[in-house]
Amino acid sequence: MMLFFNDNESKGKIVAEEFIVIGKRYGIPTFNDAAADVPPTENLSKYTRMGFDLVTFSGGKGMRGPQKEAEAKEWDRRTKLLADSVRDIQALDVEIFIPPIANHVPHLKLTWNQEDLGLSADCIRQQLRDGNVSIEAIPIYSYEPSGYREEIRFGVWMMLPGETEIVAQRLREIFRKTRISSQTTNDG
Ligand SMILES: *Cc1c(COP(=O)(O)O)cnc(C)c1O
Repeated sequence: MMLFFNDNESKGKIVAEEFIVIGKRYGIPTFNDAAADVPPTENLSKYTRMGFDLVTFSGGKGMRGPQKEAEAKEWDRRTKLLADSVRDIQALDVEIFIPPIANHVPHLKLTWNQEDLGLSADCIRQQLRDGNVSIEAIPIYSYEPSGYREEIRFGVWMMLPGETEIVAQRLREIFRKTRISSQTTNDG
């Protein structure tokens, strides 16, 4: 069986349709791991209609529903709450974004230059992990044309009620402390 990783389609050398054609040509079944690709719910049948022999979706992600307007609103509220908790930290770029494929729901993205905060993303992730409630941020290591920027991301759709508030408070605590200590350093 040939395994296709849906999330990485844009990074691969061939797209889903070409993958299926190759499988059919050699008589090998094709499997699309689309675990994080609901919502939208149309995706539940999209890839089998396209010709994949087996498609899987994660029961713990969008499948668990209810996939309605109200849930989308709650995700917006959560990402905004996280974003607002660090908006006043000037060295930080705070962005809410929706990935085009997989986990197609609002996420928080924080980026900064290490010199401005005096701390790397790995350092911040470790502090989040070491807290009284251990928090795991999504690590991103990508070089941009303008140079390397520290980056962490947060998904909110797997959080349980009340957890976003805890993450927001902890984020604020860590970044405020960082800002204060880097200002102190800058002032001599
Ligand atoms: C989440 C995920 C899985 C695992 O799904 P579970 O339901 O947690 O077992 C597998 N593949 C991809 C691409 C995923 O995003």
